[in-house]
Amino acid sequence: MLPEVVIIGRPNVGKSTLFNRLVGKKLALVDDQPGVTRDRRFGEADLLGLKFTIVDTAGWEDDDPHSLPGRMRKQTEAALEGATLALFVFDSRAGLTPLDEEIARWLRGADVPVVVVANKAEGKAGDSGIFDAYSLGLGDPVALSAEHGEGVADLFEVLLPHLEPLQPEEAPALDEGEDRPLGPLQLAIVGRPNAGKSTLINRLLQEDRLLTGPEAGITRDSIAVDWQWQDPKSGETMPIKLIDTAGMRKRARVTEKLERMAVADAKHAVDFAEVVVLLLDATQGLEHQDLKIASHVIEEGRALMVAINKWDIAEDPSGLFNGIRAALDEGLAQARGIPLIAVSARTGKGTDAMLSAAHELRDIWNRRVPTAALNRWFDDALAQNPPPAPGGKRIKLRYITQVRTRPPGFVLFGTRLDQLPESYRRYLVNGLRRELGFGSVPVRLTLRSPKNPYHTKE
Ligand code: GDP
Repeated sequence: MLPEVVIIGRPNVGKSTLFNRLVGKKLALVDDQPGVTRDRRFGEADLLGLKFTIVDTAGWEDDDPHSLPGRMRKQTEAALEGATLALFVFDSRAGLTPLDEEIARWLRGADVPVVVVANKAEGKAGDSGIFDAYSLGLGDPVALSAEHGEGVADLFEVLLPHLEPLQPEEAPALDEGEDRPLGPLQLAIVGRPNAGKSTLINRLLQEDRLLTGPEAGITRDSIAVDWQWQDPKSGETMPIKLIDTAGMRKRARVTEKLERMAVADAKHAVDFAEVVVLLLDATQGLEHQDLKIASHVIEEGRALMVAINKWDIAEDPSGLFNGIRAALDEGLAQARGIPLIAVSARTGKGTDAMLSAAHELRDIWNRRVPTAALNRWFDDALAQNPPPAPGGKRIKLRYITQVRTRPPGFVLFGTRLDQLPESYRRYLVNGLRRELGFGSVPVRLTLRSPKNPYHTKE
């Protein structure tokens, strides 16, 4: 169940406009119901990733003005029941009216938190009305223009502490030792021709067959093979969906040149996989094309790891390993520290470690940082290295929030963000990775200024 936010205010202050603004295109009205609820509209709001049910208490607009306060009061009380928070909207151009003050009195007595919204605040015409609202005793007003979308990010900041703890977990963060509530690991193995992909896949499936009996537990559909892997460390059985890119290619009858085929496979793989293993050949080392495949996987936001195959015939294994490690870190500066593992599809060495690392990587890819930890990190990061002040005016970074997982995505609010140097943004992204445990998993950081955040909405 989503948290519920109720919009309250006298007629014509812009309640419905705010409702529509918060619901956006996905206007979802519930059926008309008899009785009191007929006067309420319900919608699903998504405010920069913050999800809630929004309730508009319209419906008395045409009432006889004399009976209006009494009816509104009844409606308001009914609407507040079970609500997480109320938005008390007034018209900042018109200023506070006696009816506004009366509604404010009811709300002060309600046991639901109230946020005062000074609507129609575009331009300067609303300034004095905004100022008046401080006298209501309901906290600082949020100035916005529901019609133009201004100030919506400020509303977001005010709502966040109330609604964030009640957000549905789209991809729950895992604590140490907790069960994985996720589906089968969707894993793809990509690499240049002859790296040993088919051999490795056969090895993985064959080992399982020994484990579970002939053919047991393996189902193949056109794009994937489902099987169970038993983690020798924990003894746990984990379902894995192995994305079969070579099979896809055959069906699609791609007739590209051999060297381009590997790139095409990787492109298919990222459409379906959560974690992608780039397989290298120990006798060939890391080549330009491998880096190209790797970059593509990272750009698409998938979790990438690298396995060096044919370890059984590798010459100078430790030199090889270190060389590849260094070349990866240099070639993929945007994702340093990608997990690197030595395997042999022929002997089976390293394959359990590979699958175990793939699971860990997926957990990180799904991770949500607790708000408190994120804020602590953010304050420290700014204190240690304050944002620059181009032309003598400091760039203000006000707030950061994680809006998604798979891959982790963050939104940074502030002013004059268009002047934030790329180096500072990298400083923040690297900090997120290093200090909040994302490692090499791609982390996205979007910058938003409070004015008209919808312009940049993805
Ligand atoms: P793919 O094109 O990536 O699917 O590569 P294949 O699985 O067809 O393997 C290419 C060649 O490498 C075959 O001759 C395999 O026998 C060989 N090969 C694959 N894995 C290993 C391994 O771990 N060690 C050794 N020595 N050879 C391997």
